[in-house]
Amino acid sequence: MKAARLHEYGKAPVLEDIPVPDFQPDEILVNVKACGMCRSDVQLIDGYFRKYADIPPPITIGHEITGVVSKIGSIVPKVSGFKEGEHVVVAPGWGDGTCRHCQVGNTHICPNVRWPGFGPVGGFAEFIPVPARYLIKVDSRLKFEELAPLTDAGLTPYRGIKILRDGGALGPDRVLGVFGAGGLGEYAVQYGKLLGSGAKVVCFDRNPQKLNIATQCGADHVINDKDKSSGDIANELNQAVGQKDLDAIMDCAGAPEMMQLAFSLLAISGHYVDVGMVGDRIDIPLWPRVRREQTFQGSYWGSNTDLSDVIALAAENKIRHNIKLFKFAEINENLDLLRSGDIVGRAVMKF
Ligand SMILES: [Zn+2]
Repeated sequence: MKAARLHEYGKAPVLEDIPVPDFQPDEILVNVKACGMCRSDVQLIDGYFRKYADIPPPITIGHEITGVVSKIGSIVPKVSGFKEGEHVVVAPGWGDGTCRHCQVGNTHICPNVRWPGFGPVGGFAEFIPVPARYLIKVDSRLKFEELAPLTDAGLTPYRGIKILRDGGALGPDRVLGVFGAGGLGEYAVQYGKLLGSGAKVVCFDRNPQKLNIATQCGADHVINDKDKSSGDIANELNQAVGQKDLDAIMDCAGAPEMMQLAFSLLAISGHYVDVGMVGDRIDIPLWPRVRREQTFQGSYWGSNTDLSDVIALAAENKIRHNIKLFKFAEINENLDLLRSGDIVGRAVMKF
């Protein structure tokens, strides 16, 4: 089968022919139909994660995976109802199933987690074996190229917005700031409107084209923060929504400069959720955080439940997509475009 594999950190993945992987009795072999491309693919290749998890090559990249059931392992329960040819999405974060995080459904933060696309098996390949419990069935009328990014770009901000909602940071008299209007940000804007109970959504970026898409996705206001002081931006915010600060922040970029701006705009009792990792560290003053009782929280990818929610929203046509399709042979040129920030929307490979 065709597979894109990283053989050496810092070098482009090799597009090659390898044997179809074996699958375990509790696994299902999925014939991949589409796989989205993520900034974290670029970070994996460039070695960003090595100090945290030095995954040995070869690594089959790609973790936004959808396809059809090809073969079913012998002990996959019949009552699970999987059938050959059925359309599925792959839930990320394959936990050990035994720890307390797994027991409450947060398999993606399991200490013994495996992630597709960060090891021997991944989505930029024609087949991937997946534990049956990490597959979610989807309606066959949904498009593969729209489903693929929903497993990360369209999932990660969903969990983040849910955390903001459950933390009481959203509501009719609240303002949510979405930082970064890239692949994740445009979904974050939509979830801000869907789950925000009337909160106003303001999207921040430096790229006018991406901000334009944020507007199409329902942002109440967009602010281009390029070369502006935080004071200027606070005034612009005030003109747009009648307050100079943000009650909730969904940071889809995690870019150090933008994070300084975001923290400077965070309101009393504000709740800041970060899913982005463009940078690696933050340096922020403590007094305003303590004095204003602010919360800063990391949010990571999403659980099976989160993904089921997202798929249900997609099935109700409640999610708008902005997809740039490409072919398997074009993986490396698209990785380069993503590295330089030149992809608008989500790049998705379709077989
Ligand atoms: Zn676990």
